[in-house]
Amino acid sequence: MRPAILTSLFAERRPSDPDRVFLEVPGRLRLTYGDLADQTGRLAHALRTSGVGVGDRVAVQIEKSPLTVLLYLACIRAGAVLVPMNPAYTDNEVAYLLGDAEPRLFVRDPDRTAVGAPMTTLTADASGAGSLADAAAVESAEFEDVNPGPDDLAAIVYTSGTTGRPKGAMLSQRNLASNAATLHRIWGFGPDDVLLHALPVFHVHGLFMATNCVLANGTGMVFLPRFEPDSVLAQFDRCTVMMGVPTYYTRLLAHPGLTERACRTMRLFISGSAPLLATTHDEFRARTGHAILERYGMTETGMLTSNPLDGERRPGTVGRPLPDVEVRVVSPRTEGIGDIEVRGPNVFSGYWRRPDLSASEFRADGFFRTGDVGGIDEDGYLSIVGRSKDVVISGGLNVYPKEIEDVLDQVPGVVESAVVGIPDPDLGEAVVAVVVAEPSVTLDEDEL
Ligand code: AMP
Repeated sequence: MRPAILTSLFAERRPSDPDRVFLEVPGRLRLTYGDLADQTGRLAHALRTSGVGVGDRVAVQIEKSPLTVLLYLACIRAGAVLVPMNPAYTDNEVAYLLGDAEPRLFVRDPDRTAVGAPMTTLTADASGAGSLADAAAVESAEFEDVNPGPDDLAAIVYTSGTTGRPKGAMLSQRNLASNAATLHRIWGFGPDDVLLHALPVFHVHGLFMATNCVLANGTGMVFLPRFEPDSVLAQFDRCTVMMGVPTYYTRLLAHPGLTERACRTMRLFISGSAPLLATTHDEFRARTGHAILERYGMTETGMLTSNPLDGERRPGTVGRPLPDVEVRVVSPRTEGIGDIEVRGPNVFSGYWRRPDLSASEFRADGFFRTGDVGGIDEDGYLSIVGRSKDVVISGGLNVYPKEIEDVLDQVPGVVESAVVGIPDPDLGEAVVAVVVAEPSVTLDEDEL
């Protein structure tokens, strides 16, 4: 049976030993499953005390720390809807998202200025300290979980578009829980697995894919504040699985410490969020003996396809559809290459307060139009060859040319601009702006 809600999936998989480690920041902090239950209980109470009821949004814009993960789990225990935000968002962007999401509570870094409509605000710095932790510390650790329905929202994750403002993808309990259970199974997680977590946690990849696999496995993760080749390599010995974006792998390849010996405890390297070059795949295999497993997903859908754990991992492809996911290629442009559309329990239900977009991005039979273009070979492997939507993927993160052009066009002396992606060996794609100046004006590159 497919698990329908996150709290019951995680409860079912929780290790019987409360002293089992769930999360470790090397040299700084170690959280056991017992700590996890206590701290998320206290945080869930602190949410209630701040006025957060079932279905209310909790927006979070803080640096990566274990608190982000704890807060996510406290939200699902309290039936609140998490709205994660990139710490790099500017005040303007934050104000827009807050206005759109209308959270009951906003958790932000104490160093940032308050923006947006008045609402309850609590703080957390990069170490997790701040008024949120203070509020939780005085609460009881015992919290009775809300029991949401599978279609209730667990999160709203903003993703930008080619036209105008970011839009919030509504992710339900079922979307996240079904995907977590599937990934846990197809990637062969077992009792000895330890995940190396170096991804950001404001994005579905690091926040949901990675963390949920660990919780669905009842084991632990080594949690690093950021991806940095030296510290990542130093932790390999204690880990078995790494999830990353292609840039992580090219950076590891540039490091002399990446050897077969350094990877001796690792069983699986997974890549996604952007295309992994076949040359990176081949070089990594030659250096370490590991064939990186490439998979494909997106904010709106979670994971869609994966190369196999057992069987051929085909470089340049993103593998086959997950067991409960349907993938089709329609409106072919050239032989066998067309728009990729998907359907499954992991696919979101629509964009927050945007019925217009929700209607245009879904087909009548429930398939979602991903905006990616590709083809499926005779063995069922999907290859992505491009995007029908205008987006540059740099280091695994989406950059929407329109958003940058809008800002550049406001600089005095700029007539117009065009932002494009160019191939970059490190980032996959780098961002380049072509700017037209007014005839008499000399533009300053730094100012731009
Ligand atoms: P995001 O919503 O930020 O996760 O971005 C999703 C987009 O990333 C997809 O629509 C694809 O264009 C791209 N993407 C994700 N994984 C892959 C992959 N393995 N190969 C190529 N593109 C990918």
